[in-house]
Amino acid sequence: MRLKIVQAGDPALRQAAQPLTAEEIVQEEVQRLICDMRETMRDAPGVGLAAPQVGLPLQLAVIEDQEEFLKAVPAQELAQKERRPVPFHVLINPKIVLAGDAKVEFFEGCLSLTGFSAIVPRTHTVRVEYLDERGEPRSVDASGWYARILQHEIDHLHGTLYIDHMHSRTFTSLDNWNRHWKGKAVAGA
Ligand code: ZN
Repeated sequence: MRLKIVQAGDPALRQAAQPLTAEEIVQEEVQRLICDMRETMRDAPGVGLAAPQVGLPLQLAVIEDQEEFLKAVPAQELAQKERRPVPFHVLINPKIVLAGDAKVEFFEGCLSLTGFSAIVPRTHTVRVEYLDERGEPRSVDASGWYARILQHEIDHLHGTLYIDHMHSRTFTSLDNWNRHWKGKAVAGA
């Protein structure tokens, strides 16, 4: 079932989400929610979706950067962003336990801020510990675009949106981004 994605201004996006226990994770309710969030993310389409975006204050997010999406992006842009396919996976109670010093800046969007984008500085490399959809502990070392997705989704679980970190003078409608900024070096913006 496709779920409704709430937009900026909805209080659900600003609440701190609650962690889930291993017992709760394996229950049918949570398993169904994971399926529905996967369908909703793919339908949007997006590369990540956090439970607060569907109005639920739970520390749960889904991530997937499909090979199909990458085909539409120029090779140079994929290389700059270090964007590679990420298989579907579930992130529960995630924590950034290590973060590199290097920062990278790119335009970023959000399914809860439809039609807008802005340059957001993010840490280039992160290690994230989390539980998977079976409640098993996992750890991932991510860099580039995947690290950005992880930071964006984990922010959602703490009531934070990219507009809280963006360079505010780069905030743009997607129409104007396509007109003025698409394919240009981030330094120019
Ligand atoms: Zn978002």
